[in-house]
Amino acid sequence: MTDAKMEKHILFVDDSATVRSSVSFCLRNAGYKVTEAMDGKDALKKLKSMKNKDKSLSLIITDVNMPKMDGITFISKVKETEFKFVPILVLTTESEESVIEKGRTAGASGWLLKPFQAEQLLWAVKKVVWPK
Ligand SMILES: [Mg+2]
Repeated sequence: MTDAKMEKHILFVDDSATVRSSVSFCLRNAGYKVTEAMDGKDALKKLKSMKNKDKSLSLIITDVNMPKMDGITFISKVKETEFKFVPILVLTTESEESVIEKGRTAGASGWLLKPFQAEQLLWAVKKVVWPK
């Protein structure tokens, strides 16, 4: 765990409590600070409460299929906020090109297919989280 890593803050969005806790555990274990949200609407609320308080958000990881607000809609909403330059990784069980393409069009930086290994997740996170 390095000091540089300790400062990196990740917003993780997934409606599955099991996925949320396992991914958060993995990321926190690797030294990242994690904020969890259960759907797109909840995530926007969490982002709003971060405004002007936390400029250090390094990454958003979001599920696609969620109640209240899906991941694709959430991504397009993020692009209308001051967090529009924060990289976004899409977490999906769907390998269909259409879902990946929708994410890309909405502004996602990359995607991860579920189920995944901890190393795959951390590799993808490291790739998009740049030192500030
Ligand atoms: Mg889901």
